[in-house]
Amino acid sequence: MKVRVRYAPSPTGFQHIGGVRTALFNYLFARANGGSFILRIEDTDRTRYMEEALQDIYETFDWLGFRWDEGPDVGGDYGPYFQSQRLELYRKYARKLVDSGNAYYCYCSPERLARIRKIQLVNKMAPGYDRHCRNLTDDERREYEEKGVTPVIRFKVPLEGKTLFRDKLLGEIETPNEDINPDPVLLKSDGFPTYHLANVIDDHFMEISHIMRAQEWIPSGPLHVLLYRAFGWEPPEYCHLPMVMGKDGQKLSKRHGATSLREFRHQGYLPEALINYIALLGWSYNDTREIFSLKELESIFTLERLNKAPAVFDYKKLEWFNGIYIRKKKPEELKELILPYLIEDGVVSDPPTGEEYRIIEGAIPLIQERMRRLTDAPNLVRFLFREIEEYSIDDVIPKKLDREKTLKVLKAVRELLIDFDKHSDEDNEMRFRELAESLGCKLGDVLMPLRVAITGTRVSPPLFGSIKLLGLEKSLRRVDTVIKQLETT
Ligand code: GLU
Ligand code: ZN
Repeated sequence: MKVRVRYAPSPTGFQHIGGVRTALFNYLFARANGGSFILRIEDTDRTRYMEEALQDIYETFDWLGFRWDEGPDVGGDYGPYFQSQRLELYRKYARKLVDSGNAYYCYCSPERLARIRKIQLVNKMAPGYDRHCRNLTDDERREYEEKGVTPVIRFKVPLEGKTLFRDKLLGEIETPNEDINPDPVLLKSDGFPTYHLANVIDDHFMEISHIMRAQEWIPSGPLHVLLYRAFGWEPPEYCHLPMVMGKDGQKLSKRHGATSLREFRHQGYLPEALINYIALLGWSYNDTREIFSLKELESIFTLERLNKAPAVFDYKKLEWFNGIYIRKKKPEELKELILPYLIEDGVVSDPPTGEEYRIIEGAIPLIQERMRRLTDAPNLVRFLFREIEEYSIDDVIPKKLDREKTLKVLKAVRELLIDFDKHSDEDNEMRFRELAESLGCKLGDVLMPLRVAITGTRVSPPLFGSIKLLGLEKSLRRVDTVIKQLETT
């Protein structure tokens, strides 16, 4: 059997972690098994359709760097890949189900359905259609037709028995038919299919072999199996993916933080890091290894390594992955990546001047080790481009020293700094170490006031590199500014 899998988003919102995880697992499963990965746009709910959401699908996967083999933009032998362009097919097969006695026309007005719902609510009954039109006589039906009522088509869920639905991960799920949604609508009165009908027909005609999707679709499983049976088709294999939760055990949502890929992108995450981290949401390779490129995942992904337990989305862990991938970048690449953030923050001009480029290039080796996100870059390099507007004297004075002593230290430091350029880094370290000793304090307490003077903050790129990049003249001037501030405030 040829492996054919699909990602079937509804363009009603932006691509989020859960959807991308589904897409990624389908893609990896196709690659690992020499199969095809298909994108199908489930756009039959016209009230919730968003043009922007469709664009977001293309942009997100372009950015992530993996793509479908068949889909609306690339074509394929099983198209069209927009459900809204397949309406005739759904209508034809809905009618077939009516003809074979597996579905029926329902003429109930929205008012009647609302009334039933109210009665069920008051009497604490399970909600659902009361199957009023399931056994209309020919005369009754004609009467509705003559009144010009446009019917919907409903599926006849068997009244008795049970339906067995097999899931690769969760095993067999047996549902009494009386627990299945009583006669769901397949075709709406506007001629558009519902999710169930279009989804089943498309998976059949697109020859989908495996369905991997979020666990929230499990309740639809038995109904889909019944639909396949009614059509006389073989259902695909099912595999419902473990839920993705926040740390509090609730389904991952906006309350936990960013969930859409465009937000993560804007927050300075790299696609490689997201792919790697998302691949581990409900899947693992073994107990020790967790760093994988997309290419590697393509050959090692198996359904056998899926977890049953829900996956927990850990923002800190994702950031850690991101730092790893930032460090893997070539300096030239990292420069291009941080540039938009430096421009957006106003740290450099748009476009940067030649001088600014030179400084950015010099800064990359200093900041690459310290970055967790691309958005960290502006704060790390700002001191190289802008004068420091205000020094916090609390930051300048080390915990163990007082103002008087700090002033003394900084003045001595200034003396050493004059010859800074004439010495190697090791030499300079020695010189500052000796100075610290002669002043009776720790090296850190000597360097901290200098660091704050040069960079404006206590947490900065490596100090000596920063001084070199800033230039001795400017560095001395900043030290003087701080000395003056210590003397006068
Ligand atoms: N359109 C559905 C969704 O938005 C597809 C679910 C499925 O894969 O069957 O997730
Ligand atoms: Zn009805």
